[in-house]
Amino acid sequence: MKQKYLLGNGIITDGFSFLLENGAILVEDGKIIQIGNTNELKSDEVDFIDLEGRLVLPGLLNPHNHLYSALATGLSPRGDMNTFPQILNNLWWHLDKKLDKESIYYSAIYGLMDSVKYGVTTMFDHHASMNFVSGSLEIIEKAYRKIGLKGLLCFEISDRMGENNIQSQIEENVKFYEKHKEDKQIRGALGLHANFTLSEKTLLTINKQKPPKLPIHIHCGEAIDDLKYCQEKGYDGPVHRLYKNGLLSKNSLLAHCIHLTETDYRLLDEIQPTIISNPESNANNNVGIMNTEKIKKYLLGTDGMTGNILGTMRSHFLQRNGNINNPLEILFKSPANIINKYFHNSGKLAVGNSADIAITDYKPVTKINLENLFYHLIFGVEGQKMFMTIADGNILYQDGKLQTVNENNILEEVKKAVNNLHRKYYE
Ligand SMILES: [Zn+2]
Repeated sequence: MKQKYLLGNGIITDGFSFLLENGAILVEDGKIIQIGNTNELKSDEVDFIDLEGRLVLPGLLNPHNHLYSALATGLSPRGDMNTFPQILNNLWWHLDKKLDKESIYYSAIYGLMDSVKYGVTTMFDHHASMNFVSGSLEIIEKAYRKIGLKGLLCFEISDRMGENNIQSQIEENVKFYEKHKEDKQIRGALGLHANFTLSEKTLLTINKQKPPKLPIHIHCGEAIDDLKYCQEKGYDGPVHRLYKNGLLSKNSLLAHCIHLTETDYRLLDEIQPTIISNPESNANNNVGIMNTEKIKKYLLGTDGMTGNILGTMRSHFLQRNGNINNPLEILFKSPANIINKYFHNSGKLAVGNSADIAITDYKPVTKINLENLFYHLIFGVEGQKMFMTIADGNILYQDGKLQTVNENNILEEVKKAVNNLHRKYYE
């Protein structure tokens, strides 16, 4: 039986439908039992955690990340980095080929530990390890269970190792999905790298083998190369190609969506897949920015850049000179819906739901309400580390310290994995 406790004296909001000052949340057995006024909910029988006026948010979602890249900091590229294909070839694809059991696990652990500090309680990971395909998702799953986050996992199918290698990649996705259909913490998607590394033959094979309800998670129109490739194959654009190959549905997760055509935008409007913009990654790769006049409904992801999703929103806000429509929908309302799609009774900060809670270290002194909440996040919270992160009622992080694992011991193991991985990278 999990602990029962009351989080009190907080400013509590789900980010879109209510904001409660002097609020409290009663947590029991991993669930939110009550939300109300601190004085009314406080009792001698329940452990009380005093939040001292801090702003309390729902646990955050990072809908597009690559944990396999978490140990890449400091690596020198193997060649020029002037174009998007060069960035992939000379860094990421070279790195992912070197990943093994140890480095897959510790990359995931390291990335997850970092994300917890920024209030992320659910992360959709897009994994690649082209020389360690079978069983790779189970290794990442272990890391998720160790750190305590919810996740939607997939392996990115790609022809970049040759068309003959894709069968094991498809199987890795399908097997993992089938095994985790009823799992309350970890689910599976079908990872596709991008149109421009998937041949016509490969898309046909994927279409034949994909269980109908298995959602795809793909980089779509990230760089101009993706669009050109699709047009050379006779399609109107990257979304159109997925559609024509029977892979696009409302459940699809499309990352980036920058280089698209009018046909693509029309299909997005009609089919309404989940679109994930990754502004920091797009700036880093110099691939352009998503057109938010054409795409009004989207989420924000970090795409391997960071674990910090509120910091990513701050970058997005500044990159667009402060012009963001519906930022609370992007940060809270849409994530609540999509989390709930995979994990029932989760997502929204509400009674009866899983206690996934991000408690910022920000104590507002000026007036706060739903109308100005976004500005408190940008100028008050500033993408700083949380005071506390709670997932399924478990306090994972508090006051600068991970609570359920010994971070320093793990970091020693991570360093060993880094040494081995970086040595192999330069071999
Ligand atoms: Zn990505």
